[in-house]
Amino acid sequence: MKDFETIYLRIREVSPEHHFEFTDSPFWILITTILSQRTKDAVTDAAARSLYSKYHDSKGLENASPADIKAIIKNVGFSNVKSERIIEIAKIINHEYNGIVPDTHDELIKLPGTGSKTANIVLTQGFGIPAIAVDTHVFRVTNRIGLIQAKDPDHAEEALKKIIPEKYQIEFNPVLVEFGKNICKPVSPKCDICPVSEFCDYYHNVYVMAKKVRGKN
Ligand code: SF4
Repeated sequence: MKDFETIYLRIREVSPEHHFEFTDSPFWILITTILSQRTKDAVTDAAARSLYSKYHDSKGLENASPADIKAIIKNVGFSNVKSERIIEIAKIINHEYNGIVPDTHDELIKLPGTGSKTANIVLTQGFGIPAIAVDTHVFRVTNRIGLIQAKDPDHAEEALKKIIPEKYQIEFNPVLVEFGKNICKPVSPKCDICPVSEFCDYYHNVYVMAKKVRGKN
């Protein structure tokens, strides 16, 4: 059994602070997270900033023209689908939730384009409620280390919930995102400078073995 806290604190120590474009508005955290799906951070943040400066809140977005939204978020992945989703979400929040983003996982995942990861980002970053948001970085890093053996993000969320104390759950996703972008990269992870290599299954079973094979050739 690996010691989660030792591993996590070493990861946190080397991970730069994650930038969130919005920290005080669950609505804009929700919209930004929807925009971020399959989109680089800088593109997402610029699109979210432009939307915010033009429409301000869910009422402004509800009455926006779809063509205008599409033009503003044109550099974002799947901008056509997302522009319609954003307007739809604004409408639902205004008419079914009195303009207030719901603060439960069950209600959030009823919104268009809002899966468990997005819901949990809104809960943790918008409301300060502990939850585990499993994105591609969290999934890859925790499986590589061997903290979990999960076949998909839903299983990963369940497994991680059991091993991550609540006091770390809010910060866990942003810390792992930065660690995944800077050290445990999708391709060519920097295992030689990684502070948790001694605990990592990938390091012992893949990285070290590959080095040995290369040494023999
Ligand atoms: S040792 Fe390599 S694979 Fe394991 S966590 Fe560190 S960078 Fe990722």
